Amino acid sequence: MNIALIAHDKKKEDIIQFTKKHAGVFSKHELFATGTTGMRIADETGLDVTRFQSGPLGGDQQIGARIADEQMQMVIFFRDPLTAQPHEPDISALLRLCDVHQIPVATNLAGAEIMVRALDHDDIEWNSIIEENRKQE
Ligand code: PGA
Repeated sequence: MNIALIAHDKKKEDIIQFTKKHAGVFSKHELFATGTTGMRIADETGLDVTRFQSGPLGGDQQIGARIADEQMQMVIFFRDPLTAQPHEPDISALLRLCDVHQIPVATNLAGAEIMVRALDHDDIEWNSIIEENRKQE
């Protein structure tokens, strides 16, 4: 599964700890990330991460494009709700595309923990539900 990882600056420490803790699960998947997030995860956890541009320079939009092409199956995005972001429109666009394409997205550590545990247990049925709905359209 292709998984996108993004963290705003004040959440970068959290995503490092999170990916370290779940490195065993993440190592079974293809990881993608915005520039700085990806660099830090790769350096500090040893996981392989394909990096896009930094978020403010278009990284969120690059991830959005992969979602639109159905090449990204999960998004973990640790947002900082207390700091204004210059690329807020890109962030909204990315979250909107997750909803358009039924991509599971966690925007905080607690939700991400649940998603990764489900991933670890292969306890995931949304793809078959989406397939079923498409057939009925
Ligand atoms: P960054 O981008 O990983 O390059 O810091 C994340 C963001 O701010 O959207």
